[in-house]
Amino acid sequence: MCGIIGYVGDRQAAPLLLEGLDKLQYRGYDSAGIAVRDDQKQISVVKTSGKLEVLVAKTDSGRTIRGRCGIGHTRWATHGEPSGVNSHPHVSCDGKVVVVHNGIIENYAEQKEKLKQRGFTFVSATDTEVAANMLAYYYRKNGNDPQKAIAATMLRIKGSFAFGIMFEDYPDIVFAARNDSPLVVGDANDGYLIASDTHAILAYTKKIYYLNNMELAMITRDGVSFLNIDLEPVSKVPSEIAWDSNSSDKGEYDHYMIKEIEEQPKVVQQTLERYIQNGKIDLGISQLNDSHIKGINRIYILGCGSAYHAAQIAKYQIENLTSMSVETEIASEFRYRNIRLEPSSMVIVISQSGETADTLAALRRAKESGVFSLAIVNVQGSAIAREADGVLYTCAGPEISVATTKAYSAQLAVIYLIAIQLAYVKNMISEQKYKSYIGELSELPERIRECIKCSEKIKDLAVAISGSHHAFYIGRGVDCAVAMEGSLKLKEISYIHSEAYAAGELKHGTISLIENGSVVIGIITQRRLAEKTLSNIQEVKSRGAYVIGISNNCLEQMSEVADVMVSIPSTDDFFAPSLAIIPLQLLAYYVCVAKGMDVDKPRNLAKSVTVE
Ligand code: GLU
Repeated sequence: MCGIIGYVGDRQAAPLLLEGLDKLQYRGYDSAGIAVRDDQKQISVVKTSGKLEVLVAKTDSGRTIRGRCGIGHTRWATHGEPSGVNSHPHVSCDGKVVVVHNGIIENYAEQKEKLKQRGFTFVSATDTEVAANMLAYYYRKNGNDPQKAIAATMLRIKGSFAFGIMFEDYPDIVFAARNDSPLVVGDANDGYLIASDTHAILAYTKKIYYLNNMELAMITRDGVSFLNIDLEPVSKVPSEIAWDSNSSDKGEYDHYMIKEIEEQPKVVQQTLERYIQNGKIDLGISQLNDSHIKGINRIYILGCGSAYHAAQIAKYQIENLTSMSVETEIASEFRYRNIRLEPSSMVIVISQSGETADTLAALRRAKESGVFSLAIVNVQGSAIAREADGVLYTCAGPEISVATTKAYSAQLAVIYLIAIQLAYVKNMISEQKYKSYIGELSELPERIRECIKCSEKIKDLAVAISGSHHAFYIGRGVDCAVAMEGSLKLKEISYIHSEAYAAGELKHGTISLIENGSVVIGIITQRRLAEKTLSNIQEVKSRGAYVIGISNNCLEQMSEVADVMVSIPSTDDFFAPSLAIIPLQLLAYYVCVAKGMDVDKPRNLAKSVTVE
């Protein structure tokens, strides 16, 4: 994952790089470093293990390193432990090339061996240092031509990379190259920038160029040029980014996660408004128009982590309304299945960042079969958005906390729209039902706002369970999908081991883990499934579980069984997943706060997973 940034311009580079790295920390935060070139053309490299604060302190917020050209990196280690020597930037052994890298060089061992035989030496365990020395080797071999060196290196690397590169002999130029890892170029008034992600540089520019796979870019104070792998010029038109640079600030909140939880009514509303015009759903912008919908008979929905849980909700909701056959799959597994996709199939991929490597690989696998692919993504211009046949953007704005909340809720909003539109166009629901769903949707943001009001109650509950070592989340049907997302939220940030189960499945094995005081969170939002889930909750209660109930309907019966009830507002059962998840997000957040953990940067994780 890792975040990379680079700058050439009129400003002092180091403070700007550190500020950009701060915005990129969600991509990795086990070590960080910068390389800056001063006016005498000397390159200083400062890097350290640990979070960015350590680097900020070490450089006095960048004040100790002077220079207007530089590159920076915040790491999520893949090759070599998080340590000072393994952190980026890496310098070739002859000192000619300085590199920051996001990705994995799969053939690094073979290349390292070749370089060693040619006399190159290594100090770190990273694959990135191999790239630095490859660049130095091909630089020398190509008469000190940096572009030829970069192209030759790119062609010999197997794997994924986004590089920011400085050559000792070429002052005031930052070179960039990419294959499968994200990289954008920003055009600011006082210079040019490169970054892994748009929002890291939004404070300086909203004019963004996207680099395609196997392309190079050169930025100087006065301009940018792009080349393809044959070193032919490529012309590009910049995109104007709509996001507000303040939307990625924490403001008065203690953590991004709680800020983003509270933003959910707004982002759901924005997302719905984008696709509902004059009381009708219009997905035509995504190429998913009515005639296209009529030809679709089967749907595959793919994602990773929370996006996979959103896919699960989609499966239930589309099947409920349309009787179409919907399959979901974890994106990293989809490509290993030996399935033949019928031409009448549609593949939907879900990813907040639009850069999730596993999801991108699954999308490419689907595209090989020639079926229509639809992406649900949050980041404009991201790889998945560009490669899918159609895209429905969630309007969640920048999401910084590693644990997703608002992007997930915006994904659910898009999923409801797809399900309703499929059902309507295929004549599976009446005009009246269609209108009533759209009416309910317009109420959804306000209902989510009401849910957030349960914060105080959840805070106390969180303190009560924060000492637990295990938690179980159970639900039936779509509530099981909600349980999966609630459980992931808890475990990823509070490190409490938690499992989600289909309520009926617990008794087939897992119930043996239930003992006095075991925390069980039971979710019931679907009237037709309520009684059966209640029986399952009774079963765990009888074995000593401490039961937290989340429900809108059947509240009465549930409160007789549960130790604590959290009620969510009434809505059509169809939209209940959007409400039931709110107390679960809040529970995870407050447990994490009660345990004094780092809410926004849980250990070992990074937000957008750009390695497979
Ligand atoms: N493979 C590089 C390293 O371990 C970069 C990791 C990444 O981009 O996630 O340092």
